[in-house]
Amino acid sequence: MGAMPEEIDGVTALLTECKEITSGRRTYYIGKYKDIDTVVVFSRWGKVAAATTVSTLIHEFNITELLFTGVAGAIHPDLKIGDIVVAKRLIHHDLDVRPIIKQYEIPLLDRTYLETADDRLKSAEKAINTLLENKNLHAAIGDEELDRFNIIHPKLFIGDVASGDQFFYKSSQKHALHTQLPDVLCVEMEGAAVAQVCFEHDIPFTVIRTISDDADESSPVSFAQFIEQVASKYSVEIVKNIYRQITSL
Ligand code: SAH
Repeated sequence: MGAMPEEIDGVTALLTECKEITSGRRTYYIGKYKDIDTVVVFSRWGKVAAATTVSTLIHEFNITELLFTGVAGAIHPDLKIGDIVVAKRLIHHDLDVRPIIKQYEIPLLDRTYLETADDRLKSAEKAINTLLENKNLHAAIGDEELDRFNIIHPKLFIGDVASGDQFFYKSSQKHALHTQLPDVLCVEMEGAAVAQVCFEHDIPFTVIRTISDDADESSPVSFAQFIEQVASKYSVEIVKNIYRQITSL
């Protein structure tokens, strides 16, 4: 599943025997990626949209595993545009049921963080490290384009991802989140919702986010350019490398 239509286009092109099913304003592309039965879909934006799409994947398409790629705004000062984040834990930064339960805790689930399974985390870590070491991105995107975004040595980060129904475009939003949840690496609008639905149905998930913007006043511009020129190629390379990793085990 991808959080940008541009991202899923490249991944859909990898499928063989591909057919399309449209349901609830989403188009599901069903086919094979090498030997794996695969469904590719654009989640649409925000937590409700993404949760609904995952639910359909589980109930109508019987998926047994979910890989979700997308872009995100940098919250932690170490992160730069072009870096890749593998979510170890996901949190709803806009969830607040105080005073009944503590801030950020998910009602009835008795937890604040949704955690990625260790084996998925390790596969994703190896796959992304290989991708970065082999300079696959440089080959796929081109040095000129990467230079334009000042992407020199993209890095992998593994840690907390925060999700909420807000696009961060003000430094005040960024600083507030960093102060409240200092371990959070990046912010986006779907991951925790997706992880929550997967958790409730025992479906292993991996959420991978490429940093598209700095979650501040520069976001709307850098975000739009990044999506168009770079993000689509990242997701294709991520999918290919995850496949190589899981089939080499
Ligand atoms: N392309 C749309 C906006 C999409 S919403 C438009 O131009 O109207 C932004 C998407 O990117 C969501 O999928 C969200 O998860 C992610 N994202 C990237 N940067 C973000 C930021 N600074 N704050 C919140 N979400 C961000």
